[in-house]
Amino acid sequence: RNTAEKFEFQAEVSRLMDIIINSLYSNKDIFLRELISNASDALDKIRFLSLTDKEVLGEGDNAKLDIQIKLDKEKKILSIRDRGIGMTKEDLIKNLGTIAKSGTSAFVEKMQTSGDLNLIGQFGVGFYSVYLVADYVEVISKHNEDKQYVWESKADGAFAISEDTWNEPLGRGTEIRLHLREEAGEYLEESKLKDLVKKYSEFINFPIYLWASKEVDVEVPADEDESTDEDETSESSTSDDGESEKSEDEDAEDKPKTKTIKETTYEWELLNDVKAIWLRNPKEVTEEEYTKFYHSLAKDFGDEKPLAWSHFTAEGDVEFKAVLFVPPKAPHDLYESYYNANKANLRLYVRRVFISDEFDELLPKYLNFLMGLVDSDTLPLNVSREMLQQHSSLKTIKKKLIRKALDMIRKIADEDPDEANDKDKKDVENSSDDEKKGQYAKFWNEFGKSIKLGIIEDSVNRNRLAKLLRFETTKSDGKLTSLDQYISRMKSGQKDIFYITGPNKEQLEKSPFLERLKKKGYEVIYFTDPVDEYLMQYLMDYGDQKFQNVSKEGLKMGKDSKAKELKESFKDLTKWWKTALASENVDDVKISNRLADTPCVVVTSKFGWSANMERIMQAQTL
Ligand code: ADP
Ligand code: MG
Repeated sequence: RNTAEKFEFQAEVSRLMDIIINSLYSNKDIFLRELISNASDALDKIRFLSLTDKEVLGEGDNAKLDIQIKLDKEKKILSIRDRGIGMTKEDLIKNLGTIAKSGTSAFVEKMQTSGDLNLIGQFGVGFYSVYLVADYVEVISKHNEDKQYVWESKADGAFAISEDTWNEPLGRGTEIRLHLREEAGEYLEESKLKDLVKKYSEFINFPIYLWASKEVDVEVPADEDESTDEDETSESSTSDDGESEKSEDEDAEDKPKTKTIKETTYEWELLNDVKAIWLRNPKEVTEEEYTKFYHSLAKDFGDEKPLAWSHFTAEGDVEFKAVLFVPPKAPHDLYESYYNANKANLRLYVRRVFISDEFDELLPKYLNFLMGLVDSDTLPLNVSREMLQQHSSLKTIKKKLIRKALDMIRKIADEDPDEANDKDKKDVENSSDDEKKGQYAKFWNEFGKSIKLGIIEDSVNRNRLAKLLRFETTKSDGKLTSLDQYISRMKSGQKDIFYITGPNKEQLEKSPFLERLKKKGYEVIYFTDPVDEYLMQYLMDYGDQKFQNVSKEGLKMGKDSKAKELKESFKDLTKWWKTALASENVDDVKISNRLADTPCVVVTSKFGWSANMERIMQAQTL
């Protein structure tokens, strides 16, 4: 159209579209769930606005918050329409032409190496998956605060926007028209679309309708010419459900006056059941349903199951329902800019109405890897997001969520046969199934760092979190072990938990600090993650035990009767040595009981940085 304004896609977007359009990726189905997910987001937004301003919904059909799918077999068009918030002209340019989010290049790279498009929704570029099946796409949109516009593109590096003067007015919302490619004809089959909605969009909280054909029996006068019947019935029979036919039988006569023929009519067929899974009784929800629900929340439709979930109702002053999941894998950017990014993955609902998925106040940062939702009955519905953020019951919700989350994580360990301590076999009695085997190690590999950050940040739950810690030790034989297991193996007379820090296990194994401890049979924890140094500044003790860095002053093994004697007899030597080294260099020179073969070591004072910490700090300032 000559009135259309032309735009070029941002380079990143163009590249992404090229990849999509030329993709040999076989699972092209994903485009539908991405469009439905966008429609659902748009509906959530308008419903949220309507809480404080009823006017925004308008009247009649406009106020119906649903999603409609329609097929045009002749023109090969599949269209998806919602009565969501819609997009202004600005929105169209911004949302469907540029990508602000950093995830795009990460996704493009991933795509080029793996070719797997399945995760597209997680990267905030799901819309572009339409070009898997269409070569030309029109987006018609009407936002309350603007006119109706059409966005269109053939994925040739450019898109156009025009004020819409020819389509039917939408009232409000968005209609996406996919002009399907020749080879994508299957998406014009009703049965295919029904299957896809069942498979991928089961948990969408708005009704999804398909304009579906239906064969109905129609009674027509027996004697009449068929060609005239058709004209008459095609319109009028659509809303009849067969009731009226019965009444004609009343004046029965000898010879039948009517006959039955098949007619195809169309009607909106509801494809999903909108009852929210979290409102159901947990006992009645199957494992498969939780898994599917997780996939839809995470926009991850692989076949991996979540590592754990917890579905519960909190009662009392603050009532809410929640479902939490531990994903099978950490998202690609979990620890990137940990301290300034908002990456909460929890969806907040108030009485079934979606409020936000950007609520930092519900979970502490270190639990941002969890996926799930909270539906509160206590929070007020008709206030702004800012007001909600300050609501006093959020603190209570947060507290309970943390508890439940930590319980859920502990359960992964409790049920894992690999975690069994000889001393407490009871925990694994009913977890003989192979599925739970090795699950905690998997959790630890993906999210161990979060637990450590938790110990640093959350003093209230420090001990609970410390229970979840895993590490290797001089005796763990390459396997992970816990503090409880360590303690259960402590030698009699041993008071402290021994650990050593360093860049890697190989280096630590050779450390002279371990010589005597090993010889005497003491177990020492290896801490090799840079974050461990910080961790140990916060984790002072565990139960009755204190932690002792074996490269620092203060190491006490069991009783050593000779220690005093030795100290006395070498007094002159240590004194001489200390003056020889000068006080800027060393604090003290002492007789040590920690060595076996090495003649001497440099030990850090109790309060100073360990040698490993010095190394980390140096690396950071370089
Ligand atoms: P995401 O949904 O992760 O943001 P998408 O690529 O799927 O990424 O969509 C990009 C943006 O386009 C959305 O964030 C939204 O602002 C806008 N958008 C897409 N579809 C619709 C729709 N049906 N109604 C309103 N806005 C939409
Ligand atoms: Mg999307």
